[in-house]
Amino acid sequence: MKDQRRAVCPVCFHHCRLDEGQYGRCRARKNINGTVVCDNYGKVTALALDPIEKKPLRHFMPGSLILSVGSYGCNLSCPFCQNHDISMGDKTVTEYREILPFTDAMNVDLKGFTEEYYRKLGGSLEAVKAFVRRAAEGCHVELTTLIVPGENDSEEEMEREAEWIASVDPEAVLHVTRFFPQYKMADRKATDVETVYRLRDVAARYLKNVYTGNC
Ligand code: SF4
Repeated sequence: MKDQRRAVCPVCFHHCRLDEGQYGRCRARKNINGTVVCDNYGKVTALALDPIEKKPLRHFMPGSLILSVGSYGCNLSCPFCQNHDISMGDKTVTEYREILPFTDAMNVDLKGFTEEYYRKLGGSLEAVKAFVRRAAEGCHVELTTLIVPGENDSEEEMEREAEWIASVDPEAVLHVTRFFPQYKMADRKATDVETVYRLRDVAARYLKNVYTGNC
């Protein structure tokens, strides 16, 4: 009986196999009677009307406002999360799979460009690359890389990242942003502004649209 009610969540690359009553890795989805349901449905942990540039989306309806609605849950475990009060608001999805056909524009965090770094954060670089390629086919996509000192701040890594993004779309927009001490990395120093600008320049060798953020 227990096995009959086991379910596999199809939403993200983790494909969690859940027993009855068990939460997925994101802590936002749960197996109830053999069906994976969204536990955070209708539970809003952030609601704000923002300038669209704040997302950041720089090349989609500039000058407009965007309603930001968030809930708890995330399928990564970044110790430097800059939104942990939202994503961990109830200790728990970043879900795109199902809603892609209804999405006009999105900003995707590309955390870095090594499998090792993604493994550390509980994710998969290849899965994110596959998602970005798919999303870019029918949606306006901008990418953000938060530069964390000592983690993903080498010129070589940024060079490989920018080269790959250009192979998907040379017009793609990349935001290179500055880390501030947060969450489980509150003891680190903020990223040097010069490092962010230097990596912006590296990315600009391959991409036309590169912006800095939080500087
Ligand atoms: S959305 Fe949550 S439950 Fe579903 S596969 Fe991803 S982490 Fe697991």
